[in-house]
Amino acid sequence: MSLNDDLFARAQAAIPGGVNSPVRAFRSVGGSPLFITSANGAYVTDADGREYVDLVASWGPAILGHAHPVVVDAVQQAAARGLSFGASTPAETELAELVEERVAPVEKVRLLSTGTEATMTAIRLARGFTGRDLLVKFAGHYHGHSDGLLAAAGSGLATLALPASAGVTKATAAQTLVLPYNDLDAVRAAFAEHGSNIAAVITEAVAANMGVVEPDAGFNAALVELAHAYGALVILDEVLTGFRVSRAGYWRLDQVRGPEHPYAPDLFTFGKVIGGGMPVAALGGRADVMDHLAPLGPVYQAGTLSGNPVAVAAGLTTLRLADDALYARLDAAAASVSEAVTDALTAAGVAHSVQRAGNLFSVAFGSFDGPIRDYDTVLAQEAWRYPAFFHAMLDAGVSLPPSVFEAWFVTAAHDEDVIGRIAEALPAAARAAASAQPP
Ligand code: PLP
Repeated sequence: MSLNDDLFARAQAAIPGGVNSPVRAFRSVGGSPLFITSANGAYVTDADGREYVDLVASWGPAILGHAHPVVVDAVQQAAARGLSFGASTPAETELAELVEERVAPVEKVRLLSTGTEATMTAIRLARGFTGRDLLVKFAGHYHGHSDGLLAAAGSGLATLALPASAGVTKATAAQTLVLPYNDLDAVRAAFAEHGSNIAAVITEAVAANMGVVEPDAGFNAALVELAHAYGALVILDEVLTGFRVSRAGYWRLDQVRGPEHPYAPDLFTFGKVIGGGMPVAALGGRADVMDHLAPLGPVYQAGTLSGNPVAVAAGLTTLRLADDALYARLDAAAASVSEAVTDALTAAGVAHSVQRAGNLFSVAFGSFDGPIRDYDTVLAQEAWRYPAFFHAMLDAGVSLPPSVFEAWFVTAAHDEDVIGRIAEALPAAARAAASAQPP
């Protein structure tokens, strides 16, 4: 047994499933999850001292590459001044101003610690602002683990949802309408039936938690138009995409796609990159809506560690280093890796679709008519090919997300050498995917 396996056995006795977030477990690919002891640039090193090219990037935050020296220095300096004060700091305002400067519809920002808090608070705020109860979300979109967002689609359109997790009450799930993604007719029908009681529509700016599924051109803009026609708000969840796909997230890329432009969601949620690898998230949006938050307004939200000075130092430094040139590098790396994946899978005769939005991409196995547009199609893929593909890559020293339903993340440290190592590993992995058998 490797040290990594030993650590997993010990962790399983102390921690449910041996992991502190289920996405880290290798449940869908099999084997022991990696226990990482250090990371640098494009690489992570496990407890056995094995180095892997990392395409997880902490599930998004590490756009600059791991342990970027300027960010580490900023964190060390902030830590030396004190870890947490439970009081305001100048850097919190600087971070809020930076977000407002980059994402035009955001007029005010509240910092929190996790993406889950950001979306949970956004929904409470939308309900408090509109005085309405219902929330619309899309099947396959993930917005964190608060109760109302762990709701699964019932049968038929515009029916109220069922709990998607034990512990979520039927009453809570029934406050959420789960609709098929990229289906404006379903959204129109939901508003026609429930419009006067819908507080908000929440949507991932690009769906990236069912693999990457881009909104149709004009879809996000149409959501805003429809919601506003009924007096509801739109929450654009950029926890994953914010500051990763461009300096202003997917919203900026989306301004040039589709007919109804420009458009302005009422609220945005951010996480991941905004903390540069530390726990920072943010809720931002229209000042008149944001001012409904306590202490100005009646919607309560608070956090002992909100705007933590060490975490804010990491986020602020990361965002300041993330200029247009950095995003051009991320886009080029994503293009090279995704082309290499297509070449290898095509050469091995494996039908697939590389799903891409900006520098985010994922691979779906099977034959599809064009880009995938909804969750049902995602679920119908040949997901059983992924474990063999994943483990062949891991054996060759490349760490992929341990689920076919996750996006792959490049960093600015994914240079030609690193991409070369990925390209070398791909043909054997593609052959493993080709010879995998359905369960
Ligand atoms: N929203 C989106 C789009 C996400 O991808 C995630 C996490 O992956 C969340 C919200 C929840 O963020 P966190 O894991 O920081 O609570």
